[in-house]
Amino acid sequence: MDKNSKRRVKVDENNPSIQRIEERCINCGNCMRICEEVVGINHETEKEDCSICINCGQCIMNCPVGALLAKYDYKKVLNIIHDTDKIVTISIAPAVRTSLAEEFGIANENFEDILPSIARALGFDYVFDITFGADVTVMEETREFLERLEKKGKLPLFTSCCPSWVKYASIFHPELLPNISTTKSPIGIQSTLIKTYFKDFSCIDNDIISVVVAPCTSKKYEIINGDTDYVITTQELAMMMRECKIDIEALKPASFDSLLSKGSKAGVMFGRSGGVMESIMNCAHYYITGKSPEMGEYHIEMNSPIESKTYKIGNKSIRCLVVYGMKSLESVLDKIGSYDIVEVMNCPGGCIGGGGQPLIPIQKLEKSEIDRKRLLNNEDAKVQFCFENRDVVELYETYLDRPMSQKAEKLLHCNHMK
Ligand code: SF4
Ligand code: SF4
Repeated sequence: MDKNSKRRVKVDENNPSIQRIEERCINCGNCMRICEEVVGINHETEKEDCSICINCGQCIMNCPVGALLAKYDYKKVLNIIHDTDKIVTISIAPAVRTSLAEEFGIANENFEDILPSIARALGFDYVFDITFGADVTVMEETREFLERLEKKGKLPLFTSCCPSWVKYASIFHPELLPNISTTKSPIGIQSTLIKTYFKDFSCIDNDIISVVVAPCTSKKYEIINGDTDYVITTQELAMMMRECKIDIEALKPASFDSLLSKGSKAGVMFGRSGGVMESIMNCAHYYITGKSPEMGEYHIEMNSPIESKTYKIGNKSIRCLVVYGMKSLESVLDKIGSYDIVEVMNCPGGCIGGGGQPLIPIQKLEKSEIDRKRLLNNEDAKVQFCFENRDVVELYETYLDRPMSQKAEKLLHCNHMK
């Protein structure tokens, strides 16, 4: 590198999430600045042959010349769709529906209704909504939290759905790993259930390939262990659509495939910071009182990257903290013992600001994030809470028995200490 050039983030060849096109790089140093100052990674301890990267993709969003990109897997997915021996499923994350339209120059539109038609036009055999997996994550994680609370287990419980946060903890705070929920993330749960529950009940003999569309480059790292075969980003889905000449105007609204077809508002809320906590508190209310909470009773508005609330549910007082950004997290770690449960996400505003989302000119970024959040919040969910979702109730009745049953623990939980 030119001796006058600024420091850049190192991108290892085997990084599953990001790549750099050297010919485009103008050595501006923006990537290192964002990584250190915004994401909060300390590169001081980095070794020559191995970079420290939590795979978040925020450097991609801030590279002025498009030299940094997600590592693309969509061509492998296109190839495998045409492998007739395999059943290829696609599951689409909540944050994708709010931003895919932006890729096609359509502002303020939620693509939920035409996502199934898009997936079928691309040739996928089954199309599922990850909000289902997210609902199951809430059922499991809430039960896990209440069990830790009752049995005086490791607290505070940290949420586990953001792989960048889990990787950050494993590098910089391994002492916190026992505090991280063992419940798999929504995509982890969704893919496991596709390959077990859905396969069994649909009497499918062929191999199933589980593809996930996520707003997040870090999910490409998360799936190294687990049942998901490929993660493509929102941007990659748009690339596939262009390559396959999908005409959005010609598509009609359609439904997701059944068994794992639909999630509640709880699942949708995973797309934004504060949404996981809100969903867990709603579910805790139900587990503790046996009744549904009032709408919005546990709503958390993220007016800043750190928000806290204390809720009284039954005879329990639950101290909640919601944080996005590792720098923000570091600033509250010395007080972490005063909380029972902590939601952590890496990206600004949560997954809606993920590194796999469409690139937005910096001056429009804030408005776009507000629009994405509004589209998620306004979603006309037919079912408000995960425990009211008929598909989720049926999953437990017919297959898993109850949250944290032996079978649920075996299939839907993991060990972050490995
Ligand atoms: S992906 Fe995230 S952690 Fe990795 S280099 Fe880019 S900004 Fe830093
Ligand atoms: S931000 Fe992009 S152009 Fe600037 S140094 Fe990093 S990779 Fe190169």
